[in-house]
Formats: sequence, C-alpha cells, structure tokens
Amino acid sequence: MNGKSFFVDLSRCTACRGCQVSCKQWKKLPAEKTVNTGSHQNPADLSFVTLKVVRFQERVDKGKVRWFFMPDQCRHCVEAPCKMASGVEGSILHDEKTGAVVYTDLTAQEDFEIIRGACPYDIPRQDPVTKRISKCDMCNDRVTAGMLPACVKTCPTGAMNFGDRDAMLAMAQNRLAEVKKKWPKAQLVNPDDVRVIFLAVEDPAFYAKNLLAQAPETRRFASRRDLLVQLLRPVKSMTSV
Ligand code: SF4
Ligand code: SF4
Repeated sequence: MNGKSFFVDLSRCTACRGCQVSCKQWKKLPAEKTVNTGSHQNPADLSFVTLKVVRFQERVDKGKVRWFFMPDQCRHCVEAPCKMASGVEGSILHDEKTGAVVYTDLTAQEDFEIIRGACPYDIPRQDPVTKRISKCDMCNDRVTAGMLPACVKTCPTGAMNFGDRDAMLAMAQNRLAEVKKKWPKAQLVNPDDVRVIFLAVEDPAFYAKNLLAQAPETRRFASRRDLLVQLLRPVKSMTSV
C-alpha cells in the first residue's frame, strides 16, 4: 500500500489552530459567525466551510486539569466507506497516486444522510444551499505539485507531518516507542485503515468522540446506516485479507 499519509503527533499539538486557519486560507473559505460555548474550541464543529477544526477537551485527573487537543479532518480512509456508499458515479474519487479521497460537485446529487452515515469519523458536511458535500481533500492540488498540505506546512510544533505512507508509518512507530516511555497508554489510532494516523498519549476518547472509528450503532443515521453496514462489512473483510 503506497501513496501518501499524514502522521499527527498529538503529544506535540498545542491547539494553536494554525492548521485550521491555513486550511481556510488555502481553500479561500469564509469565517463563520460563532458563539463562545465555554470551550477553547471554536467553531464548535466541522461545517461545509470549516474542513478542519481543532477539538478541545478538558479532563480532571487526580485533582489536576488536563487538556487534550485534536486537529480533526477527513482520514482519507484506505478503503473509504463514504466512496463505497456513493450512489452517483464520479461523485467521490480516490486518487490512486496519493490516496486522497476527493469529493466533486456531483456530490450535490448524493443522498447526504447515506454519505455522512457511512463515515466512521462523522466528517462529511453539506452546503444547505447548493447541496454539495465537502471535506478535506488532502490539498491534493498542492501535493501533486510537490508541496505539503497547507496545514502541515503551517504547523509550528511538528505535530502535523506528511509524506510517503511507508515513511509516515515508520515515523509513527518510532515516535510511539519514544512517547510510551512517558505515556505507557500511548497508541496509534486505526493506522492500517486511514491515511491520517494519529498518535494519542491516552485513551482516544479523551480527545474527541470521533478520534477512534465510531461503531456503526453509535453513528448519526441509524436506520439507513444499518442497511449500509450490512452491505459494507463483507467488502471490508475481503479487502483487508
Ligand atoms: S474519513 Fe469519512 S469522509 Fe474521509 S474518506 Fe473516510 S469515510 Fe470518507
Ligand atoms: S498547527 Fe500544529 S500545533 Fe497548531 S493546532 Fe494544528 S496540529 Fe496543533
């Protein structure tokens, strides 16, 4: 399995949100009007015009406050469930060279509930006016021109990394071994299934409910989802052999 991948080292993320802003800048996406929800996280969620959001969780552990940050985005799944669920030919593309999963204008013809419900990480969002569905496209225009994705280029701490998949997997394993000396529960999150490989120093649920792939029964659209999951399971098991 080749192509490209991200390695996101959450032990190094400071929630500066540089990646979130640079995504908007490169994509020329507008700011959103937001309200203070009592959290450092802003805006509160992904949207059609916010393809990357730095999630923020606060926990009290043995009387001490701990912060957990996670820059959330499409994981560019190796076998993308959203693409498998597509009902419109040419709507969702998989770039064979980079591995990027790319949505086109034809997503406006998709059943949004099916596409969003298929995603284990609850990523796709829909423009309420045009009905087009959107998400991160790996900055595939930059990557095919030999540049880094905008978020990686911007990250000042080394949390965001990008390159050939084999190199990123090796970097992730090396960093995991290092981090485990201080954080024994550290782990890589779904590394075989995705091209955005997170290193979490604690239980992934401490960062966000969708850092780990969500079980089908907890996803957003239960009824249609059940049908979809039945369709997808045999495909997944066959392709992972
Ligand atoms: S994370 Fe979700 S939107 Fe992204 S490729 Fe995977 S299934 Fe599709
Ligand atoms: S730019 Fe880097 S350090 Fe800043 S929020 Fe994004 S991943 Fe974290």
